[in-house]
Amino acid sequence: MTASTQLVWLRHDLRVMDNPALYDASQHGPVTAVVTLTPKQWQQHDRAPVQVDLLLRHLKTLQQALGDSGISLKVCQVDDFAAVPEALLALARQLKITHLRFNDQYEWDERIRDDAVETAFQAAGYSVHRYLDQTLFAPGQLLTGQGDYYTVFTPFYKRWLSRLLEVDLTPLPAPNHQSGPVEHDPLPTQLPGWESPIASTLWPAGCEHALARLDHFVDEHLINYDTQRDLPAVEGTSTLSPYLALGAVSIRQCLQAVMAHTQGQVPTGKDGPGRWVAELVWREFYRHIMAGFPRVCRYRAFKTETERLSWREDPEGLSRWQAGQTGFPLVDAAMRQLVQTGWMHNRLRMLTAMFLSKHLLIDWRLGEQFFMQHLVDGDLAANNGGWQWAASTGTDAAPYFRLFNPYRQSERFDLQGEFIRKFIPELHSLSNKSIHQPPTSQCDQLNYPHPCVDLKEARDRVMHAFDAIKVEK
Ligand code: FAD
Repeated sequence: MTASTQLVWLRHDLRVMDNPALYDASQHGPVTAVVTLTPKQWQQHDRAPVQVDLLLRHLKTLQQALGDSGISLKVCQVDDFAAVPEALLALARQLKITHLRFNDQYEWDERIRDDAVETAFQAAGYSVHRYLDQTLFAPGQLLTGQGDYYTVFTPFYKRWLSRLLEVDLTPLPAPNHQSGPVEHDPLPTQLPGWESPIASTLWPAGCEHALARLDHFVDEHLINYDTQRDLPAVEGTSTLSPYLALGAVSIRQCLQAVMAHTQGQVPTGKDGPGRWVAELVWREFYRHIMAGFPRVCRYRAFKTETERLSWREDPEGLSRWQAGQTGFPLVDAAMRQLVQTGWMHNRLRMLTAMFLSKHLLIDWRLGEQFFMQHLVDGDLAANNGGWQWAASTGTDAAPYFRLFNPYRQSERFDLQGEFIRKFIPELHSLSNKSIHQPPTSQCDQLNYPHPCVDLKEARDRVMHAFDAIKVEK
């Protein structure tokens, strides 16, 4: 009998440790791993160059780690998802594999791609195995009493917590060491058109780095997460999002690190560990929403009636927002942080998203796209969920009449103006009091724009827009 030979297709699970598909494959026979690079598809999905740059650097480190386990990493570069089944089949034939294994993803295009791969492999006589990896509970596993997907976070969160102890959080070990020669495919260090303007030192690659970041966060910052998580000038959050998005670190590894800290207690409270776990559950919630309501992957509002909102055409407002030139310091500092570093603090993502969709009444989809094009942690579920929350078009969204006042947010969360000064050097000389709302008389002198919108008028305008769809209902 011929031994079974395994092909593991790695996607957003780019790690050797605690990788269900990879580990299981190594229990069944010789393993080869493969990644697919699909630049044209990334363009369609608005992937950011900074994220592609991190991916390529990360793959180098992964190749090394796989090699240490005796596993070769093959690379299939094709244009888009449609070409993936044939490319993988060709590789499978060449390597004479018998089994294909991969961890599931839940974005709509990815699901179509994965189903097409599965169908093509099964038709060709290969056996295909898919695994749960991205979330602790698979979409569909946590449902309401009526058997529906949860559309409100709090009951989902409570249910998730109540079932946490059912899950074995012990991360899987590295795959069994493989004998035989390691024959990696060459990896591109850069792809034409994907050069990133952001220094690679800002986002070091590799699982070791991701795990060190997790340890550092849990050791130094977890305990104060509840009080520091909203302060953009402070290192109060984990900045693990780029690594979770790539799968350089797993959700189980994160949870295990927290539970080690809480001596195995489920972190349910409003303290640091409890709040951090709640954020990880938001990540999971939006993945379930994406799987249960795939329209959100197709630029559709979760609340379908909000499709009728009359968004404003305002190219100038949009470009001032993108360039960090709105005249509202905290909004501008945040947008500059995004463009300069590929990352933005969560409080500021909420603020800038609300500013665009509410104060400027510009279609949230344009903001969602711009974020995706610049984020090192760009993730369809979280980004779409965050945008639709801010625009009040989404599941469990902010009520439509809720608008963050950019000046008040600034006084509350950047009291000393430290964050603003970091990204808007023009305002450096202003006092801690006036930096939040620079006196109009000083704007020209400081070469800083006047506010692009009157807050009261903006509020009336957005209320009117939402009232109009209520009447039409
Ligand atoms: P921490 O505070 O340390 O949280 C730990 C992890 O929990 C994060 O790494 C992330 O994986 C997850 N998480 C935290 N908050 C959320 C949230 N509100 N929703 C979903 N998951 C969350 N997150 C992304 O990973 N990718 C995105 O493209 C993205 N776009 C967003 C767009 C908007 C408009 C908003 C409001 C939020 C968005 N978020 C996104 C969620 C959140 O802002 C980031 O996950 C967080 O800022 C990342 O920083 P951190 O790793 O230090 O988070």
